[in-house]
Amino acid sequence: MRNQGIGSWPARRARKTPGRVAVVHEGRQITYGELHERVLRLAHALRGLGVRRGDRVAYLGPNHPAFVETLFAAGVLGAVFVPLNTRLAVPELAFNLSDSGAAVLVHTPSETASALDVRHRVPLDDYERLIAGAGGEPIDEPVSPGDPCMIMYTSGTTGRPKGAVLSHANITWNSVNVLVDIDVLADEATLVAAPLFHTAGLNMTCLPTLLKGGRVVLLGAFDPGRVLELIETERITQMFGVPTMFDAMAGHPRWAGTDLSSLRTLNCGGAPVPLRTIETYLRRGLDFSQGYGMTEASPGVLYLPAEQAVAKAGSAGVPHFFTDARVVRSDGRDAAPGEKGEILVQGPNVMTGYWGARPLVPGEWLRTGDVARLDEDGYAYIVDRVKDMFVSGGENVYPAEVEQVILEHPAVAECAVIGVPDAVWGEVGRAVVVLRPDAGAASVDLADDILGFLRGRLAKYKIPKSVVWAGTLPRTPSGKILKPALRDSRTTSGA
Ligand code: ATP
Ligand code: MG
Repeated sequence: MRNQGIGSWPARRARKTPGRVAVVHEGRQITYGELHERVLRLAHALRGLGVRRGDRVAYLGPNHPAFVETLFAAGVLGAVFVPLNTRLAVPELAFNLSDSGAAVLVHTPSETASALDVRHRVPLDDYERLIAGAGGEPIDEPVSPGDPCMIMYTSGTTGRPKGAVLSHANITWNSVNVLVDIDVLADEATLVAAPLFHTAGLNMTCLPTLLKGGRVVLLGAFDPGRVLELIETERITQMFGVPTMFDAMAGHPRWAGTDLSSLRTLNCGGAPVPLRTIETYLRRGLDFSQGYGMTEASPGVLYLPAEQAVAKAGSAGVPHFFTDARVVRSDGRDAAPGEKGEILVQGPNVMTGYWGARPLVPGEWLRTGDVARLDEDGYAYIVDRVKDMFVSGGENVYPAEVEQVILEHPAVAECAVIGVPDAVWGEVGRAVVVLRPDAGAASVDLADDILGFLRGRLAKYKIPKSVVWAGTLPRTPSGKILKPALRDSRTTSGA
């Protein structure tokens, strides 16, 4: 095969294991043989719409076989796949579409989709007809590992989302890292309940399983009750989630009655897993492997195997097998153990560059924008984002550390800490707090109580000087707190 990219995976899998089930969705099963045939037909159909090598093909819809098939079909043609976030508003999607220059949009019919301006659309209710009507002759477009495979937009937590260009090699090496470290098996039954349009759902769970020849069970959108049901009926062996997903499952009425015995391990990323979540699952005989990553790294950077989840609690682990990470101080020197600095990443999974910007040069370390420290054993602890840090009286304050302590106060449901200008200290902390429903009314006394709670638990310069109350915190569609929006907001009031 002249196609060395991931568009060739269905054909290569069909050569080895045509009869094994590749994708399960709503009770429907697609074998690797069928997947290969469907992808080929879809590639012909896309070609019929004018898609050629290098063109961009976007997808806007739920976790569905069409997502995976569109990705592979684009890869067959050497075209570039652009997954879109279904939770974005029309202007945000319009930016992603025009920025990437997508010529085709495969989508679920919706008002949002109809409002978008794109040359060709393939609504999902037309999709099967399109596949059935297309030819199935082999396509052998030459595709090199270094060619672009997808443009994946970052979550937009710190500003406008950036399009990370991930090559076929980037995605492949990330999958190899996963196969080596997470130990994916050929008879894996992987539940994909996290959205495929985010890098973790697609690249950490779905694609490594399909590379290995396992079975991927797609759930349209996360729902804790449905997840528990599918674990039992599909005999799921592994799944990926963010901590809030695992908490929602453990809090669901089905939790106690669900047979979880098929699960080997659970993978968690995006934020540290709270110890109480780890303990809840340990009582059911289940442990968590954890990771740290970012869209730009396809995304796996650090990995903490389940055996170390308790001994190294709070750590995101050590770099994946083929990936390297350093923690550097602001003067560019490597930080000593315990010392904080920015984490830099290098490896074959690191993007070729941002879409429309200069490519990374070979050997260049990617600046993650995250602050971390290493322990004596080389295990990394993510501290916070560089952009969220502020300086108070000459001392660096990392809001994430302060937020964790505030969250221990019994009246606090959610909180965010930002730096605000101060005549004496340069900047001081301000805590934006959402109270628990049973906490009583917000008052100056309660604000004093929360600040008093921090004394003795945190150094004085880290303790916010004011508390403001909020009904909710502004968040990205994936649940991350939008600090820029909080800093801009002048609407909150408090003590
Ligand atoms: P943008 O780059 O557009 O501002 P984003 O950085 O949130 O958005 P993603 O690529 O989805 O977009 O998220 C990667 C970021 O998520 C990391 O840079 C880090 O800040 C955070 N993150 C990921 N894993 C962890 C973890 N285990 N612990 C703490 N933070 C994490
Ligand atoms: Mg980022």
